[in-house]
Amino acid sequence: MGGAFDGRVVLVTGGSRGIGRAVCQQFAEAGARVVVHYRAGREAAEETLASLDGDGHVALAADVADPAQAARLVADTVGRCGRLDVLVNNAGIFEEHRIADVDYDAWQTAWQRTISTNLLGPANLIHQAVPHLIAAGDGRIVNVSSRGAFRGEPDHPAYGASKAGLNSLGQSLAQALAPHGVYVTTVAPGFVETDMTTEHLTGPGGDAIRAQSPLGRAAEPDEIARLVVFLATPGTEYATGTIVDANGASYLRT
Ligand code: NAP
Repeated sequence: MGGAFDGRVVLVTGGSRGIGRAVCQQFAEAGARVVVHYRAGREAAEETLASLDGDGHVALAADVADPAQAARLVADTVGRCGRLDVLVNNAGIFEEHRIADVDYDAWQTAWQRTISTNLLGPANLIHQAVPHLIAAGDGRIVNVSSRGAFRGEPDHPAYGASKAGLNSLGQSLAQALAPHGVYVTTVAPGFVETDMTTEHLTGPGGDAIRAQSPLGRAAEPDEIARLVVFLATPGTEYATGTIVDANGASYLRT
């Protein structure tokens, strides 16, 4: 059966679980060969791999916060799959570090880890991926950001800053890379039902979080994945530079 991504190779960082797993599954359904990336959770990555339609998918490990490992991930993707058409920067962490509660050491650790993973990781992966995306023709980068970049993250300030930086990175590179046939877009979800948010959604504040959206619920990973795949689909390149909100109208930017 023909799909929009037949013959294309897609690297999904953090593809082992949550939103990334749904992104891998939907790209595979659309005919892509998928690289399921993970950091340490090999078992989850293998489960995702086993759930994918089609053949030729691989699981690759790397800590995206380490520049050398990020470079190796791109090189291994091309080495194993022969090309790279779509990079989805989805891997991320969401660590609490309230300014009133944490000491200076903990504050610095949270900022360094968060910025390294959520912002420098994507920047480094993009640098290494771009020559391959240009060679592929109609190359795509889709970054997974967050509503928190716009709404604020009082208990996770480094997270909010990392995602605001990711938005800016994506917009700057949309301008820089369009002349080279590479298109860059961003999806900014609100709360999504994944491991990242289980504690929040099942805790005492869960109902209040769901009530932030007039839909009265958090998103399912599949709903976010649909937008990611859409933004990488051939024929959508004029959307380059866009940031798509996926927050159930819980926060409306002007
Ligand atoms: P998740 O379920 O916690 O999964 C995180 C994924 O990222 C895992 O595959 C994990 O791999 C990988 N990862 C984490 N740190 C890494 C590192 N240093 N190097 C490589 N991989 C790393 O997360 P999720 O909820 O699906 O979130 C995916 C993305 O959506 C994130 O960027 C997140 O900020 C964003 N987002 C999520 C929500 C939400 O409500 N869930 C809302 C807005 C935005 P291992 O398991 O192997 O460590």
